[in-house]
Amino acid sequence: MKKEELLEQVNKVLVSCQKCRLSRTRIYVVPGEGDPKSEIVFVGQCPGANEDQQGRPFVGRAGQLLDELLKSIGLQREKVFITNIVKCRPPENRDPMVDEVRACSPYLERQTKIINPKLIVTLGRFASEFFISEGKISQIHGVPHRVKGLLIFPLYHPAAGLRATGVAEALRSDFRKIPRVLAGELEVKEIVNNKVPKNQMELI
Ligand code: URA
Ligand code: SF4
Repeated sequence: MKKEELLEQVNKVLVSCQKCRLSRTRIYVVPGEGDPKSEIVFVGQCPGANEDQQGRPFVGRAGQLLDELLKSIGLQREKVFITNIVKCRPPENRDPMVDEVRACSPYLERQTKIINPKLIVTLGRFASEFFISEGKISQIHGVPHRVKGLLIFPLYHPAAGLRATGVAEALRSDFRKIPRVLAGELEVKEIVNNKVPKNQMELI
């Protein structure tokens, strides 16, 4: 089966998923979208209010900044795949809880296995900690990491970039490194003993 068909199967299950409490407060599930053949998958935290209303990832102000950052390196959002760790919006924009991440992350696992990207770009602390257990986002952003065979490039979250100009500048300069990360031109930090359970990578 083709990648788009396999992703479509995941979407079909997702749209009626009730595996965690977030199913009771969401409007729409936000499975993620983009090119199934993309070399890069962008992973955010979870949908916010705008995403919940539209069923699409990164469509609010943070999404506009993400679009702009993508354009700055010659990419359109349709040409990459964009998704989140957790696919339904938590009430009042709280962080997802551990059991919600556990319930939802097998969908991300499935999506990344189908797409099999060269690179996973994590947006923000939450998504970065899901894959990389060591170091704070302020220390690890902009450094490619290899974890259990996956190449992870942790970046600040665009929403954090909207709040602080220093963060926005770091985000822009990290973003410009993406082509070099893809080309294998940047040194990759190998993570051998990724600690669980702080991150959930044992699921992947
Ligand atoms: N923030 C996220 O982490 N994901 C979205 O889809 C939107 C905002
Ligand atoms: Fe299902 Fe994930 Fe939504 Fe929970 S957050 S109901 S696991 S799709």
